[in-house]
Amino acid sequence: GAKARKRNTWMFFTQQLVDASRERFAMDTGLRRALDRNELVLHYQPQARVEGNSVFGAEALVRWTTQEGEVIGPGRFIALAEEAGLIHAVGRWVLREACQQARQWELRGLPLRVSVNLSGLQVVQGDIVGEVRAALRQSGLSPSRLELEITEGFVIGHADEGLERLHGLRCLGVQLSVDDFGTGYSSLSYLTRLPVQCLKIDQSFVADVPGDPDDETIVAAILSIAERLRLDVIAEGVENAEQLDFLKSLGCLAYQGNYLSPPLTAEQFDQRWGVGGPARDA
Ligand code: C2E
Ligand code: MG
Ligand code: MG
Ligand code: MG
Repeated sequence: GAKARKRNTWMFFTQQLVDASRERFAMDTGLRRALDRNELVLHYQPQARVEGNSVFGAEALVRWTTQEGEVIGPGRFIALAEEAGLIHAVGRWVLREACQQARQWELRGLPLRVSVNLSGLQVVQGDIVGEVRAALRQSGLSPSRLELEITEGFVIGHADEGLERLHGLRCLGVQLSVDDFGTGYSSLSYLTRLPVQCLKIDQSFVADVPGDPDDETIVAAILSIAERLRLDVIAEGVENAEQLDFLKSLGCLAYQGNYLSPPLTAEQFDQRWGVGGPARDA
């Protein structure tokens, strides 16, 4: 009857909670070990100019390869790393690794800019300016070859505390961009106050263009705001030629997405775009 069903639902629900907290605990200790054992790895997604399709940069995206060989994406462990206070260690590793890789490209004559995602916590807690300075110094990378991505949501929530740090980062000579732009539902006035050079159009707006009139309008509006404010734009999540043609028709200059290439290991990236590879341009 209904009572038994209620009880079953409750037990099912409780079991889910137990499983979830068990998984969190396993992930927490696992992630600590992953840092010690060097189980994190960066994949690089190329970014290209719409005109000529020349690759000018790569976004570094972290993955965790467990000892069992399972690849865990950032969607499953970044939030946990933030809660467990491990994001600083993870973020520091990502920064250093990405700078070293970009320096190698630089030394081989490949003028690629590398983009690193920052957690908001890295910006408001800790010494992000010192961390970035150290990563640049240690690798020898030119600061202009490093771009740091901050999310719009973070920017809105912490504009005042974060602002000084963002200016500090700019003073190092690195580029700053707003990731997932358009998803934060906020006043746009912050754009004129922040020392950012680039907006990344969130892939959710790119997914259904051309065709969805609302998303078409939003993409067009973002491109026009960026142009007026003299900001660069990169469209994310471009998966087909129709999307790229649409973006091109609106004057979007740069993009990334599976249509160009999914994120690649450094080795795969070199095979496709590195010196000695078939071609530098896609
Ligand atoms: P994001 O920075 O917005 O990165 C774009 C995500 O879209 C990546 O997922 C990428 O693999 C995926 N993507 C790229 N092209 C396409 C496409 O054509 N279609 C679709 N559907 N997806 C595409 P990923 O690698 O799973 O990363 C997810 C998010 O995790 C990132 O979103 C970023 O916010 C975060 N993240 C990744 N690496 C780091 C990191 O090192 N530190 C921090 N704090 N966050 C990171
Ligand atoms: Mg990003
Ligand atoms: Mg994004
Ligand atoms: Mg995202």
